[in-house]
Amino acid sequence: MSRLIARLVLAMLILPLAGTVFVFSMVILLPGGGQPGLARMLAVWAAVYAFIGIYWMLLWQDMIRWTTERKQRTWAATVLSLVAGVLLGLLVEGVLPAAAEVGALIGGGVPPIVWVLATVLIWRETPAERIARLTAAGTDAVSCPTCGYNLTGMREARCPECGAQYTLDELLTTQPKRDEEKLEGR
Ligand SMILES: [Zn+2]
Repeated sequence: MSRLIARLVLAMLILPLAGTVFVFSMVILLPGGGQPGLARMLAVWAAVYAFIGIYWMLLWQDMIRWTTERKQRTWAATVLSLVAGVLLGLLVEGVLPAAAEVGALIGGGVPPIVWVLATVLIWRETPAERIARLTAAGTDAVSCPTCGYNLTGMREARCPECGAQYTLDELLTTQPKRDEEKLEGR
């Protein structure tokens, strides 16, 4: 099993694991069952958020390029997802009209979902970063079949060095075989 597949399996496990943390927190905070108070409900969600945040970060940490922009967006997503949860909680409480704990129970589920989805978009490698990484790895530069010139970043399949022209399929088939597992399965 490649490391990437292992990571994807662990990523899918976040849902059942978070559910387990939720149930255990409920049991610990509400021994003997009963109606959870608002404070306890919020404490349960805090435990779930902490678990999801740490688990998700540890899982992808070393694959994320922490640019300033990416850090800022991650913080913004964290704040906005919490705000979204609070708003939905208040909406449920106001519209239904339910007890504050019911609002907290339903609204509380929003932040982790929104946050995880947002991080998928925010942490994703941009095409430019991918090219930079693969070029640094030294294997994925598309090179001219005739003279070996590095064609990375070219917008047409014509070599600026020797002037040879190719179709895209010609370029593809003449490239040396790449070790995809090594490049992607980090
Ligand atoms: Zn060339």
